[in-house]
Amino acid sequence: MAKIGRAIVKMDVDELINLLNKALSDEWLAYYQYWIGAKVVKGPMKDAVIAELTLHATEELSHAELIATRIIQLGGTPVLSPQEWFRLTNCGYDAPVDHYVEVVLDQNIKGEQCAIRTYNDLLNITREADPVTYNIVLTIISQEVEHEEDLSALKEDLELMLSRRQ
Ligand code: FE
Ligand code: FE
Ligand code: MG
Repeated sequence: MAKIGRAIVKMDVDELINLLNKALSDEWLAYYQYWIGAKVVKGPMKDAVIAELTLHATEELSHAELIATRIIQLGGTPVLSPQEWFRLTNCGYDAPVDHYVEVVLDQNIKGEQCAIRTYNDLLNITREADPVTYNIVLTIISQEVEHEEDLSALKEDLELMLSRRQ
């Protein structure tokens, strides 16, 4: 039987599922970028940065969970292969080749800013068409804004500390 939960969506559901799979790919890449960044990061304030990156990794994974669950509710299939992440991603992946704290922070700040823009677009698309997805995206974007703020605050502390040293 056709699901009412899908029938009430007032936009092309396949297109919405595609947008959600793009966001799902971003979340997995963001998860790994944080997770591996926490392993390799070096420099001043390393411990505070590792704690934040590790926490953000788990939060990105929880975003992937929310999005995959919504895709399945809509009758779609969440992206099945990691190779697909690179075809679908909006925000790409920055390998932390340079392990210095400030470089790793900058890469992740850039990633958060892309995530915020992407989810803001998704809010605009779903606001009237799909309040259920809108509500999920609102939860996620609120956390991405927090992530940008947390990383920016760490970067500011780092810069203050370095500027006061001889
Ligand atoms: Fe996220
Ligand atoms: Fe984030
Ligand atoms: Mg945080």
